Amino acid sequence: VGGRYFVAIGGPCAVESREQTLFVARRVKASGAHVLRGGAFKPRTNPYSFQGLGEEGLKILAEARAETGLPFVTEALDLEGLELVERYADAIQIGARNMQNFPLLRAAGQARKPVMLKRGFQATLEELLLAAEYVLAGGNFDVVLCERGIRTFSDFSRNTLDLGLVPAAKALTHLPVIVDPSHASGRRDLVVPLSRAAAAVGGDGIMVEVHGDPGCALCDGTQAVTTEAFSTLVTEVGRVADAVDRPLLQPETRRRKVAVGQFF
Ligand code: PEP
Ligand code: MN
Repeated sequence: VGGRYFVAIGGPCAVESREQTLFVARRVKASGAHVLRGGAFKPRTNPYSFQGLGEEGLKILAEARAETGLPFVTEALDLEGLELVERYADAIQIGARNMQNFPLLRAAGQARKPVMLKRGFQATLEELLLAAEYVLAGGNFDVVLCERGIRTFSDFSRNTLDLGLVPAAKALTHLPVIVDPSHASGRRDLVVPLSRAAAAVGGDGIMVEVHGDPGCALCDGTQAVTTEAFSTLVTEVGRVADAVDRPLLQPETRRRKVAVGQFF
């Protein structure tokens, strides 16, 4: 993430079961995605909502990786979860609600896996960059920022995607910046256009929630796109990415680069 190529991350909001996750993993892989997402530890507003499968969810994600070859990113909610996530995952997600959880950020700075840091929904750009600095200051330099929408007076969407943050952040830092149109909008009909916009504005990638049966999702069903819609989305985003000379990372390109020892 952060090189010449645009990266697509897709997967369910939450790991609900082995079948659900493997199904989505196979389909997002076939659609051309580069990374699988899925929460095993879910930060839910309501304590009675599905909280995630915990370590069992991480094992399911690892199985999906073994089958598809897709690396995965998943959220660590607390210090205990961070140890587990670091052990199983390819990248550690720190969620919007934890963007200023300084003990967690410090611990992520000691981790030996890349960190994807999501912008808090009330956080300024400066606060986001200083939160990233906590991780960098610990010696972990592999940090990806994620714009996922902020709280505004919008009455049509869950949050407001602050696309201007992408070039503004990139002017101030070398860190890659990706966009999450799913949490930004809360509406699956907005996910494709906002994904195209993410590529147009110079984002380094997108992270999209995908579900085999969004109506039955245990978490964030209204914003999940179907696996078919995700496939169309990748094609459409690819066209915009080409137009701004940040083409989607192709499987052949990746193989060739890995063969000469480069790292993405
Ligand atoms: C997520 O991506 O799973 C998530 C919970 O997002 P956020 O922290 O941005 O709300
Ligand atoms: Mn979600």
